[in-house]
Amino acid sequence: MPFDRSDRLKRLPPYLFAEIDKKKKAAVAEGRDVINMGVGDPDKPTPEFVIRALQEACAKPAHHRYAFDEGLPAFRAAAARWFEKRYGVRLDPDREILPLIGSKEGIAHLPLAILNPGDVSLVPDPGYPPYAGGTSFAGGEPHRMRLRADLGFLPDLKAIPALVVARAKILYLNYPNNPTSALAPRAFLEEAVAFAAKHDLLIAADAAYSEVYFEEKPPSMLQIPGARERTIEFHSLSKTFNMTGWRLGFAAGCEKAVKALGVLKTYLDSGIFSAIQETGAVALDGYDRPEIRAIRDLYRTRRDAWVGGLRSLGLKVDSPKATFYVWTPVPGGGSSIDFCARALEKANVVLTPGLGFGEGGEGYFRAALTVDEPRIREAIERLKKAGVFGT
Ligand SMILES: *Cc1c(COP(=O)(O)O)cnc(C)c1O
Repeated sequence: MPFDRSDRLKRLPPYLFAEIDKKKKAAVAEGRDVINMGVGDPDKPTPEFVIRALQEACAKPAHHRYAFDEGLPAFRAAAARWFEKRYGVRLDPDREILPLIGSKEGIAHLPLAILNPGDVSLVPDPGYPPYAGGTSFAGGEPHRMRLRADLGFLPDLKAIPALVVARAKILYLNYPNNPTSALAPRAFLEEAVAFAAKHDLLIAADAAYSEVYFEEKPPSMLQIPGARERTIEFHSLSKTFNMTGWRLGFAAGCEKAVKALGVLKTYLDSGIFSAIQETGAVALDGYDRPEIRAIRDLYRTRRDAWVGGLRSLGLKVDSPKATFYVWTPVPGGGSSIDFCARALEKANVVLTPGLGFGEGGEGYFRAALTVDEPRIREAIERLKKAGVFGT
């Protein structure tokens, strides 16, 4: 039938977060008081100085026309300024930076710009679904690299079969990591760059959580010697500035890859509302402001409440050093889907089953710290009372 989904769409599992959102909405529609720690979407509003900048920018007629894909020069310049201040890496805003409609857009489209049918992307498992999804859409094959707790949730690059590596073109990495919250030590970044150089791979580094940290600032892959020629790094304003709905991010690094993605995008979209880009420049220039630091402090307080709560229930949990996620083994083992279904049914708490991030996520559940501390405490109480964690 002409209206049936294409084979490539049918091959993909339903997008997990959309599914969870559906279940949550059904529970809310029944009048249940749901605590949503499922989707990683900051609950606080965008900072006032950013909102005000958009109010001004959107009134300018120059912004009402197509922005086109090379993006607003002022936004690219601000991204380069931010990169230099934050990482000490000076990028050419005309050739090494590309604005994106949220970083997910670039992450998911990259394979279409780089892969030929049958080429392989190396993707973390558990991992953010667009790495594998974007690869499949491009006719490529995702090869899943297990992230294991005993290896610090870093992929074991040496364990990837030689025949797979020979067909691979893209190596996706994501640190600070969603869903495990792991950080990559510099030694691993160096190992990844050496591996990519040896096997002629493009590194696609997803840095969406680069500013959600509680201890040292996470490094950029582009700080590693030799990385810049073969790394495209994805940055996002979503988590840093509570701007998920605005859809703004950028790709940085490897000129050829940035260019390839830009050319692809000329056929897909016609740029990002330039008032939003102008505002994004204001946000990036203001990233040192106290209200941005306050966002990190808030997550730290919530993290301590949730981790403390889980520990009081007898669970062994490490306190994450970055991201607003806590990744925890399902108590007593067993299916992550069943466990999260029980949490919703019995305690009205939405948690994300690890399996939704790939088979490597089975046996874990993820809590997003995107509700206020009192609600986090209440979630713990409810889960305890309902016996969701067993006895
Ligand atoms: C939230 C998130 C992103 C990006 O989000 P955008 O809003 O599209 O910029 C990218 N990668 C991971 C792992 C995320 O969790």
